[in-house]
Order: sequence, then structure tokens, then C-alpha cells
Amino acid sequence: TSEPLFLGIDFGTSGARYALVDKQGAIHSEGKTTYPLQVGTVTNRASSWMEALFHLLGDIPTMYRPSISSISIDGTSATTLIVDRNNGEVLAGPFMYDESFADALPAVESIAPANHAVCSGSSTLCKLVSWWNSSSRRSTTTSSGDSAVVLMHQSDWLLSLLHGQYGVSDYNNALKVGYDPEIDSYPGWLLSQPYAHMLPSVRAPGVPVGSIKEDLRTQLGFSKDCVVCTGTTDSIAAFLAARTTEPGKAVTSLGSTLAVKLVSDVRVDDARFGVYSHRLDDMWLVGGASNTGGAVLRQLFSDDQLVALSEEIDPSVPSPLDYYPLPKKGERFPVSDPNMMPRLQPRPESDAAYLHGILESIARIEADGYRLLRELGASAVEEVFTAGGGAQNDKWTGIRRRVLGVPVRKAEQTEAAYGAALLALKGATKITQKTT
Ligand code: ADP
Repeated sequence: TSEPLFLGIDFGTSGARYALVDKQGAIHSEGKTTYPLQVGTVTNRASSWMEALFHLLGDIPTMYRPSISSISIDGTSATTLIVDRNNGEVLAGPFMYDESFADALPAVESIAPANHAVCSGSSTLCKLVSWWNSSSRRSTTTSSGDSAVVLMHQSDWLLSLLHGQYGVSDYNNALKVGYDPEIDSYPGWLLSQPYAHMLPSVRAPGVPVGSIKEDLRTQLGFSKDCVVCTGTTDSIAAFLAARTTEPGKAVTSLGSTLAVKLVSDVRVDDARFGVYSHRLDDMWLVGGASNTGGAVLRQLFSDDQLVALSEEIDPSVPSPLDYYPLPKKGERFPVSDPNMMPRLQPRPESDAAYLHGILESIARIEADGYRLLRELGASAVEEVFTAGGGAQNDKWTGIRRRVLGVPVRKAEQTEAAYGAALLALKGATKITQKTT
């Protein structure tokens, strides 16, 4: 084929995937791989990602390769490496997205505004500060020199394997190191720190950084014109997959937990509820996550039972049961209460009635979530697309349509790799606009 194609690669929590799309967004090829077995030490993680990346590239049918115009990659948010900016050598990490470096929290809290997204033990900034204060840095910097070290996120680093530039990031990944996407700069309180020289340079997601390295290009059979673009985080990429970019459009993810993401004209941040905004070009993507969701359903029913019992539910009839389904103690959004207990009583005799009550209660929590975002100043929700295991349940969708009072439908695409491919498409379009 001579039609241009765009490659997106997702590095999620359990494995990596690719999607190859055309400019209409139709998928021409897809593939996935798990990370190769890791032998104990953490630096092996980076080589296992690298292996997964080249495994996926090698899986792309050769007939498509010359048609690939651009590539982008998403990775898990706050997964961090310390790299030598001269040669890309990994000096420390990867520090994983969910690893906490609470030792750095007092130092971070003393410089950042109260309740800033960096004020969490697993934030990228805590990882940076913890490493900066560690003895391993002192031994590292003696060999490579302080000014040669740079912080990179998972997707920055994987992209650098393709374009060969170290220390380039995007404003979605950089949010948790403290980058302010509103002023398009690092804030003064961060730039005045002794480790400020380690902060990566930041661009918009999906902008071209450079051509694919020549040796790779010839080895893989890619075109000379193939460019490598900045990436994003895995959850933003999953949102982008739904192709909903107007204010008021939202994606609810009904997986193990319930997460909402709403496109808004207004930026909204409120750490009490774990609500914060990512920049999406000239708009904001406001997100919040509740602890309710499919994990509770799994504690009570098998997936087969869920399907069978759902058949018996009439979604047009409101359930009188009022629960607050949680897998364990504690809620953050839309109610901030670390001591909130699950409420799943009284249990009616009929399992279908019980499930109806639970699904309806989760729908009310979802509606409260969008209501809270509105109260905090975000755009009002107008239409909801659904991702995750719960999106398969048409009866639940019916219940949610009634409770939310807006159209609700299943998102056509929900894979982060597809969202990353759309970013690659965006980057390639920018080049065409520039040259014409
Ligand atoms: P995650 O990736 O967050 O673990 P998934 O998106 O794979 O979650 O969704 C899995 C969840 O979907 C499970 O917790 C399960 O309870 C829920 N689920 C699966 N089938 C159904 C169904 N028919 N109705 C409602 N929920 C379902």
C-alpha cells in the first residue's frame, strides 16, 4: 500500500500493544506482547521494555512498513528513569508508576503549592528528589558529571530509542514532575531547585521530535520520511482513543474502578477529591476516580452470572435500593472520606434485584462525579462514552442513561495504542501543514 499509515504503541501495566491506522482512523494492523521475564534487578525492566518495543516493531507486516509516516508511544504515568543525556544510558530506575518514595515527600511539600499533583509519594518529582538525595546519585555523578543527567518518563525513553534524542518529554507526562501546562513552563519554585537541570524539555503530545534513527530505519524497512513524535500517558491515550474532543464530552471507564474524564473549557484541580486537569491542546481534560466499580461486582458474581442476571433487569425502572459499593474501606471521589465503609445492605432475595440496585448505585456515584466536576467549575457533561468491562453491559448503559440524563454509549475504540496512533497522525499532519 502507498497510503500513509500512523503507528501508535502503548506500554501499559501488563504488556505492550501496537495499532497501525490510516488517516481516517481505520486499523490496518494490530499486535501485542507481554514483557519478557525480568530477572530481579530493576534496570532489567528497561531492557525488557526495549525488547517488547523491538518485538512489536518486528511484528508489523513488512508490506506496511514503508508506509508508516509517524510513530508515537504512550507509557504509564510517573514511571521514571534517570538517564545520561549524552548516550541514553540508564543510570537509575526505572522507578515504577506505583512505587512510593515517601522519604521525599516532606522536601516536595515544602517547595510545591499545597495539594499540588506532585505531593504524592509516587509522583515523578518525589522519585527525582529521592534519587537526588540518595547516596547512589553521589557515586553516579562522579563518573558522568551532574550536568549530564536527565529525567525521562517511560514513553520519553522508549521514543528516544527510536529518534536518539534524550531528555524530551510532553506536557501530559510532565504534569507529575511539576510542569505547568497553563503557562507552558516549569514553575519558578521548581526551576530554583538544585536538580532543575535534570528536568526534561517539554512539548505538546504528538509533535514531531525527529526522524527515526538511520540504522533502525534500514533494519526495519521504514521510510526516510518517518518521524517520531512526542507521546503521552497511558490513561490519556486511552481517552484519545474514544475521539471525543469537544467540551462536555466525557469518557467513563468501568473497569475494576470507576474513572471519569471530561473535556472542559476550564481547568479544574482539587486535591481533596483527587481531581486534576491535563491539558489537551486548547482544552482541559478533567479527571476523577472513585473506588467503586467492577471489582465489587467481581467479589459478588462471576462474569457469566453478571451477564445472566443482567438479562432480567428492566433498566427503565428505578431500583429502590441505595448502596455505596466499595471493595474495601475508603473513598476519594466524588466523596472524600478515607473512612467510608462499603454499603451493600439490605440484600434482597432476588439476585437480579440485588445486581440492579448495585448497578444503579454505581450509576448514581458516576452522576455525582460529573456533578462535582461541574460544581468545581468544569463544563457540564453532555454525552458519555464508556470504556472497560462494564461497557459490555447494555442494561447498565440503559440505567446510566436514565440516571445521568445524557446520551450514553460504548466507545468504539478504547485501546491506548489506538489513541497513541491518533497522536502520531496528529504529528504527521502538522508536518504536512508546515510544508504546504
Ligand atoms: P480492569 O482493566 O480495570 O481490571 P476491565 O476493563 O477489564 O477492568 O473490566 C473488568 C471489570 O468489568 C470487572 O471488574 C467486572 O466486574 C466488570 N464486568 C465484566 N463483565 C461485566 C458485565 N457483564 N456487567 C458489568 N460489569 C462487568
